[in-house]
Amino acid sequence: MSLLTRVTNFVQIILKEKIKQGNIAIDATMGNGNDTVFLARSVGISGKVYSFDVQEIALRNTKEKITEHHLKGYDIQLINDGHENINQYIEGLVDVVMFNLGYLPKGDPAIITRPKTTIKAISHMIQLLKPGGIISIIIYYGHEGGKEEKEAVLDFLKGIPKEEITVIESNYTNHMNNPPIIVFIEKNK
Ligand code: SAM
Repeated sequence: MSLLTRVTNFVQIILKEKIKQGNIAIDATMGNGNDTVFLARSVGISGKVYSFDVQEIALRNTKEKITEHHLKGYDIQLINDGHENINQYIEGLVDVVMFNLGYLPKGDPAIITRPKTTIKAISHMIQLLKPGGIISIIIYYGHEGGKEEKEAVLDFLKGIPKEEITVIESNYTNHMNNPPIIVFIEKNK
């Protein structure tokens, strides 16, 4: 399996270094449920996954995927709401958060993540993160509105003191057509 060619492989390999059975995880952009399945397997039956999406179809697709992957007994809560409202659903601290910005593959391209709500959500997630906890963000930005979101997210993160979080950004140097950008955020204290 290539470590780098598929952006999701790269992200998962880094996150696997951190996630433990029993952890609390958030899939901030559920979509077709791929990250929810990865997180559920990683935190195990003793862990918990909260998954958010504004589209009903994302919840339907993710429910199917959970069944397909035999994860029915796992503690996975699918929430049909925006990630910016996370404070209404979670009170305790969390270990890991995944964002996958953009639009649902094969879904409605008009329903996209947007700068204001994405930044509000990232800001809440940083507050909710345990020290040592990690957030991954895959930024797809080839669609209309994507570049503005990318700039806004990166500017926002640049403004947070390094004593609070460490932020790393990686990109595909020799890929064409707006290849995704990967961001990892680790909470320092
Ligand atoms: N991680 C997903 C997967 O494994 O299939 C793909 C996510 S897709 C690139 C982005 C998703 O974000 C879409 O399903 C879209 O509906 C969702 N989205 C858009 N705005 C949102 C918001 N405010 N809160 C939560 N999800 C949102």
